[in-house]
Amino acid sequence: MPAILLDGRATAARYLAEVKEEAVRFEEDYGRKASLAVVLVGDDQASQVYVRRIIRGFTDAGLAAEAVALPADIDGAAVIDRIGALNADRGVDGILLQLPLPKGLPTEAIVSAIDPDKDVDGVTPTQAGRLLLGQPALVPNTPAGGMALLQAYDIPISGAEAVVVGRSAIVGKPMALLLLAANATVTLCHTRTRDLGAVTRRADILCVAAGRAGLIDGSMIKPGAVVLDFGVNSTDAGLVGDVDAASAREVAGYLTPVPGGTGPMTNVMLMRNTLAAARAHRRSPR
Ligand code: NAP
Repeated sequence: MPAILLDGRATAARYLAEVKEEAVRFEEDYGRKASLAVVLVGDDQASQVYVRRIIRGFTDAGLAAEAVALPADIDGAAVIDRIGALNADRGVDGILLQLPLPKGLPTEAIVSAIDPDKDVDGVTPTQAGRLLLGQPALVPNTPAGGMALLQAYDIPISGAEAVVVGRSAIVGKPMALLLLAANATVTLCHTRTRDLGAVTRRADILCVAAGRAGLIDGSMIKPGAVVLDFGVNSTDAGLVGDVDAASAREVAGYLTPVPGGTGPMTNVMLMRNTLAAARAHRRSPR
């Protein structure tokens, strides 16, 4: 039997309905919309499209979002100054920094300049540390969306063998930590993993975030496994994931389509984090 598709669009739409209600409540309580600033350095076309999409989504959901566009030749100190201004701006609840930054900019210093309370993508050392320690945190949106999809489809996580392919700070590592927090037994794979297929075939839950089209095919998947494909790869055949969908569908029990799987969940998790950050700011006297 072919895999059941984990429908990110339909699941995100249900979350979006809740976000819209919470956005109205926030505006009633505080007389303004919860708001996000998206910092975009340089003129990468794909990033510009992505940022415009975020802003449109926020506006449609009853939230505010603005793009802060900075030139590609800006120096690190000037980016940090701009982030400092957003940190101090009481009208800004969340800051999303588009990564990767243009080469030559000190990414670590710039990321660390974001006020952790406004870090709605969980990239600062403070938020990443809270996640590691199991403390309440603003969790990176993409893995948060993956977990929400698993929950939406009642996938049992406790005690499951989970394998995550990819160890980036924004997807792989936080996904592994979230699965661990949900009591899965977690293995984290990367480019030095020996015999990747032997490891992935152990997985009841297989999460792939490598950025390599078709890295995982059906022969590397345990029959009946749940497969979350975070990959987004632009190919001649259009957007494809890291999982070869045709062969995976014949083996997996559940599979996220690309597009329409993990992607839509990411956007709605960003809205939830922005609302959570906004509520937390309003509680703390500054
Ligand atoms: P990244 O920073 O480039 O990290 C890729 C990771 O995959 C690295 O840890 C790398 O290992 C590992 N990897 C690469 N090739 C591998 C191979 N052949 N075998 C095993 N491991 C391999 O990428 P990222 O930012 O995490 O993004 C990953 C993918 O997710 C991309 O396609 C990106 O576009 C997509 N993405 C999707 C969403 C969404 O909303 N769905 C959001 C963010 C990103 P090493 O550490 O050893 O180099």
